[in-house]
Amino acid sequence: MISEFTGKLLVQGEPDGSSFPNGGIRSTFEARGYTAWDVTSPAYLMETPNGLTLCIPTVFVSWTGEALDKKTPLLRSNAAMNAQAQRLLKLLVETDIAPVNSSCGAEQEYFLVDAAFTALRSDLQLAGRTLFGAPPAKGQQFDDHYFGAIPERVQVFMQDVERQLYKLGIPAKTRHNEVAPGQFEIAPFHEAANVATDHQQLIMTVLKSTAKKHGFTCLLHEKPFAGVNGSGKHVNWSIGNATQGNLLDPGDTPHQNLQFLLFCGAVIRGVHTYGPLMRAAIATASNDHRLGANEAPPAIISVYLGSQLEDVFNQIKSGQLSGSAGKALMSLGIDTLPELAKDPGDRNRTSPFAFTGNRFEFRAVGSGQSVAGPLVVLNTMLADSIAWIADQLETQLQSGASLEEAAFAVLKRTMDAHGAVVFGGDGYSSEWHRIAVEERGLENLRTTADALPVLQRPEIEALFSRQGVLTPVELESRFEVYAEQYLLAIEVEAKLALRIARTQIMPAAQAYLERLARSLRDQQELGLAPDRSLATEVAQHTTALQRTCGELAAGLQGDHEGSLTTQMQHSAHALLPLMGAVRHAADALETLVDDDLWPLPTYQELLFMR
Ligand code: ADP
Ligand code: MG
Repeated sequence: MISEFTGKLLVQGEPDGSSFPNGGIRSTFEARGYTAWDVTSPAYLMETPNGLTLCIPTVFVSWTGEALDKKTPLLRSNAAMNAQAQRLLKLLVETDIAPVNSSCGAEQEYFLVDAAFTALRSDLQLAGRTLFGAPPAKGQQFDDHYFGAIPERVQVFMQDVERQLYKLGIPAKTRHNEVAPGQFEIAPFHEAANVATDHQQLIMTVLKSTAKKHGFTCLLHEKPFAGVNGSGKHVNWSIGNATQGNLLDPGDTPHQNLQFLLFCGAVIRGVHTYGPLMRAAIATASNDHRLGANEAPPAIISVYLGSQLEDVFNQIKSGQLSGSAGKALMSLGIDTLPELAKDPGDRNRTSPFAFTGNRFEFRAVGSGQSVAGPLVVLNTMLADSIAWIADQLETQLQSGASLEEAAFAVLKRTMDAHGAVVFGGDGYSSEWHRIAVEERGLENLRTTADALPVLQRPEIEALFSRQGVLTPVELESRFEVYAEQYLLAIEVEAKLALRIARTQIMPAAQAYLERLARSLRDQQELGLAPDRSLATEVAQHTTALQRTCGELAAGLQGDHEGSLTTQMQHSAHALLPLMGAVRHAADALETLVDDDLWPLPTYQELLFMR
C-alpha cells in the first residue's frame, strides 16, 4: 500500500490530456496538460458505494499555457469584470470597495423516465432524446402535472438527491414539477459564479447517478420529446461585493439609485452590443430544438426590465427623470389573509434575458450545458460595458459636470444607442420576430450553424483579447470544438435514426402489412368484400419510410465536405430536415401498426409511468 500525498501533487497535476478536445491548439501526439488547484472552489469528497474520493477543483491548461477548460476563462472573466466595476465604483462612492464577484443560481430542469423503457430505446441511450414517437392522446394541455402533487417515487428520488448534494456542500433550495409530464426542476441557492458552476456540474452528475438507483433515467437533453416542453437551465446572475452589496439591486426608489442605474445600463449596452455572442454561448445541437419553438425564449436576444424599470429607463431616454412606481399592495378582501406586496415588475417567460428584481435571468441556456460559457460571456460583456460607461463618466466629470449630471448624460446616451434591445412584450409572437429584425436591427440567429460563427467575428476576438479572457487562439479553439460537437451530435442522430428506422420500424411495418394481407385473403376466401383502406395507408407510409431512409443515407454521404461552417449548414439544412421526413413516416406508422408489433416504448409509456 502506498499512502503518500504531497502538497506538490495537490497544487499541480499532470493528467494525460491527449484525447481531450483542444480545437487545434496542439497535435494529438503532444499530450502534456497541467491541472492547477483552484483554491476558490471547495474540494469535496465524492461518495460511491465502495468508498470516498477526494476531488479537487482545478483549472486545466495545455503545455503551451493555453486554457483547455471552462474554468480558466470564467475566473479571468470575473477578474475583468471586477477590475472595471472597481473603476466605476471609485467614481461613485467614497467608502471602501471590496472585490466584486459575480453570482449565479442555476435552475435545472430535467425529465425522469422509467429505466425499463429507456433500455428499449437506443435513441434515448445514445442521443438523449427520442428520434421517433407519435404524440400521445394526452400531453401537457391540462397543466395537471405542473400543478399536481409530486409523485411519491419522484419525491423519494428528490430527497435522496438533496441529501447527497447537502453532503457535497451544495445548497439545494427549490424542487417542483415542471410543465411537461415527467418533467421536474431543482434549484440551488446562488453562490459565487465559479463555485456555482462547479456545483452545477455536480448537480447534473448526482441527478443522473441517483436516478439509476431509483430505477429512473434522468434526461438532461433540451428536447427529449417532441410536442411537449423541453428543458432549460435558467442562469440567474448578478454582481456584488461585501461593501456595496448587490450592484443590481434597484432598492425601492430605482430612479434615485445612480449606482444601480449605471450598472443596469451597462448590462443593457452589453446585451445590445454582444447579443449574438450570448446566442453563440447557448448554441448546441440540442438547444436548437427548444429555442424559438414557442415554449422557450426565441433565438433573438433582448432584455426584459419589467414595467417599473422600463419606465425609469424610458424617462432617462426622454431626458426627464421624475420618479418610479412604488410597490403596490394587493388586498385579497379576506381579513384572515395579509395584504400582499406586488413586485414592481411581472415576469416575462418569453424573454431570453429578464430582470427579476435584483438579478438577471438568462433563460435561454440549455439544460444539459455547463453554465460556465454563458457566465464567461455575461461577465466579459459587462466588463466591456462598464469600461465604456466609466470612460464617458470620467470625461464628463473632467469637463466639470456634477456626478448626477454626468451619470444621466451617460445613461441617456446608453439608452439612445442601445435602448432598442429592451423589449417587454411577447417574445413568442411573429410580430416581435419581424420588429426585432426589421425595425430594431437585432439578429435572429436561428440555428447553431448560424450562431457559432459569431465566435469568429473580429469584434468578438477583440473583446476577449481586450478583457484578457481568451486569446485569439483560445477563442478559435472554442469555435472548432463547439462546431465539431454540433456536427457529431447530428451525425450520430442521423445514423441512429436510420438504424432504428431500418432495423426496428420497417420490419414491424412489414410484419403488419403481411398480417393485413393475410386477413384480406382470408376475407376474400370467405366470400366477403374486404376493405383495403388500412392496408393501403400502411403501405403508403411504409414506402415513404423506405424512400426517406434512402434520402437520409445519401445526405449522410455528403457530410464531410467544406469548412466547418459549410458542414454545419449542411447538418442544419439538409440532415435535420431529412431526419424529420423519416420521423414523419415512422410516427404515422406508429398510430396504425398493431401495438403488439411496435418495437419502441411509446410516448405514453415514457412520459406517464412514474
Ligand atoms: P424562480 O423559478 O421563481 O425564478 P427559483 O427559486 O426556482 O425561482 O430560482 C431562483 C434562483 O435564483 C435560485 O437559484 C436563487 O438562489 C437565485 N438567485 C436569487 N438571488 C440571486 C442573485 N442576487 N444573484 C444570482 N442568483 C440569485
Ligand atoms: Mg424556478
